[in-house]
Amino acid sequence: MMRESERMYALLLDMKYQDRLFGSLEGFTKKGNGALACCPFHDDPLPTLVVYADRPEYFCFVCSSRGDWLSYLQRREGLSFSEALSRLTAEAGLLPAGYDKARWEEDLERAHLLEIAAGYFTTQLFSPAGEETLHYLYRRGYAMGEVEGAAFGFFPGFENLKSYLQSQGIGDDILDAVLSAVWDRDADGCTLAIPFRDSCGRLMGMVGRDITRTGREAYRPLTDLSVLKDVPFLMYRARKQEQVIVAEGLLDALLVDQIGIKPAVAIGKEGLSEGQADALSAYGVKQCLLCLGNGSQKGQKTIEAARILESRGIDAAVLPLPHQYDDLDCFIRSTDLHDFKRLLKKPVCMGEWSTDS
Ligand SMILES: [Zn+2]
Repeated sequence: MMRESERMYALLLDMKYQDRLFGSLEGFTKKGNGALACCPFHDDPLPTLVVYADRPEYFCFVCSSRGDWLSYLQRREGLSFSEALSRLTAEAGLLPAGYDKARWEEDLERAHLLEIAAGYFTTQLFSPAGEETLHYLYRRGYAMGEVEGAAFGFFPGFENLKSYLQSQGIGDDILDAVLSAVWDRDADGCTLAIPFRDSCGRLMGMVGRDITRTGREAYRPLTDLSVLKDVPFLMYRARKQEQVIVAEGLLDALLVDQIGIKPAVAIGKEGLSEGQADALSAYGVKQCLLCLGNGSQKGQKTIEAARILESRGIDAAVLPLPHQYDDLDCFIRSTDLHDFKRLLKKPVCMGEWSTDS
């Protein structure tokens, strides 16, 4: 099950509700992937408030005011939580039942803390400490712009992260309540940090990769991921897309997303879950191009994924990789972009596909 607030925000973002919510602010101007406006929380002659277009959040560069749209309405208009909630759910065409204020506050603090952590990890990746991890990405075929676009980071260990957050004024109470509760203290060897956003774009988790290992064991959650278990990775980039590539690994999906020809999501090594299929269906996906990789196990996962998708009225087809490539990432890295485009032109329907073809 998705969070109630997640579904509400995703619907509102798809309506570009941020333009209405923030559009009356002085100096409101669309800029790149979002907008800028004069901050209503400090005396602001120049627009310094960033309104994001791909997540329900805002941030002021000068006074550091930040939050999501529910907290914005409470602070800006003096509404209570339930008044702000009623306003936003009504705009989204939903009922305000089932929302929980305590859980909303938890999500807000978690996303806030992880955004600060992700910003720190990004700067670390381009510092001497992150050199080895950055070179690993280059060796895997990522270009500089793709590394930035995918928002990879270098995770310098839990204690360094904690000291950094303290230096940013995060209090010990929040560190205890949020960081200690969500962060896996045994993941220090996983230096490549991959942000995992929920379906409305809030940063709710992180996955790490140990660059000295290969295969599926190299990945490890840096944070608790239970709130993301029904959210395909990169779902927030694939909402309202009729045709979506479904890959297994996060790096497969990120690479395809950065190439920008077709949206892609990743479902992880366990295969497609019922909850993930519900999310794809709820966000309007009509056809999934399954590209889970070669081998009999992955073949079984492909058949099972197709069955689950079809039970929800989503068409499933397969992108068959030439047998010498294990997965999509490996195929894209070892071939030419034309080969990938050719692959996209030839999806095979389930009836014509067999695991040994
Ligand atoms: Zn401000």
